[in-house]
Amino acid sequence: MRYEKLFATANHVSDKLFSRNSLGACENCKGIGVEKIDLAFMDDIEQACEVCGGSGFKPAVLKYRYNSKNIVEVMDMTVEEAYDFFPDKLYRQSFDMLLQLGLGYLTLGQRSDSFSGGERQRLKLTKELKHSNKIIVLDEPSTGLHPNDTEKLLNFINNLVDNHNTLIVIEHNLDVIAQADWIIDIGPGAGKYGGNVVFTGTVADLLKDTVSLTAACLRQHLRNEGTHPKKDAS
Ligand SMILES: [Zn+2]
Repeated sequence: MRYEKLFATANHVSDKLFSRNSLGACENCKGIGVEKIDLAFMDDIEQACEVCGGSGFKPAVLKYRYNSKNIVEVMDMTVEEAYDFFPDKLYRQSFDMLLQLGLGYLTLGQRSDSFSGGERQRLKLTKELKHSNKIIVLDEPSTGLHPNDTEKLLNFINNLVDNHNTLIVIEHNLDVIAQADWIIDIGPGAGKYGGNVVFTGTVADLLKDTVSLTAACLRQHLRNEGTHPKKDAS
């Protein structure tokens, strides 16, 4: 069930009032929350809409409440707060997944164009979890992730693999690299210094490689961490 429905049922009004893309949209900014100011000699600037304060909702909608909060207060909640706010089980599974991926700080009303690259990649993962036998390509899913949450990301990736998916992950994160079943190392350096395949194989073989810079970094990293790479599955 969508949040709009919960508000509609609690207040006996149309659920469209609780959507920024529908009847709930602020008339001044059309639900976008920002106003553009045209400047003659510089790029246009955007500022928060003065009618809705940036929420995108018509002020009249704010009188309706669900569990004593209005729609803007609910949209401003983080996933972590929302997990306790909504009745048991309602959104638990989705919230749980976001928490597992270290995304508990995202707010419910956050606009998708405000997500960082790493956040976008991790959100993409939540959609893939129910699939199997798929090839999933991820571009640096660990970007911006708190180091403590890397393990959560790895658990997630392992669940997808257990579900018979194939993941092709482009990564610099050594914890993620250490868990891969097969590595294609492109170098010898980064950016314009790269372009050649310098190594292909398992983590165990990479650790023995004397040419690859990734190998040297990975050996150092594992020594510092005191951890061990995933055992060769074959
Ligand atoms: Zn507005």
